[in-house]
Amino acid sequence: MIYKGDLMKPYQRTSSLKKVYRRLPSSRTGVLLRKKRPSVAKCAICKKPLRGSVGSKQRMYGGFVCHKCLQSLIKLSMRGIS
Ligand SMILES: [Zn+2]
Repeated sequence: MIYKGDLMKPYQRTSSLKKVYRRLPSSRTGVLLRKKRPSVAKCAICKKPLRGSVGSKQRMYGGFVCHKCLQSLIKLSMRGIS
């Protein structure tokens, strides 16, 4: 357990870990180091959050663009515009 105000070890001084402050029964404040959760996957074109499982590769550009943007891209490529 690390206490608030204590000197942290070099591997603990990183922004990749999230600091969670917890009040302890001894009235001191403890610092818990948690791993940060990955952010929600978003469409590369319209920036809306993607539905379904993260990084699914079942469809072309799955986990990269949403179904609506992919539909319009396929239409444009079939018409030879792109
Ligand atoms: Zn989109």
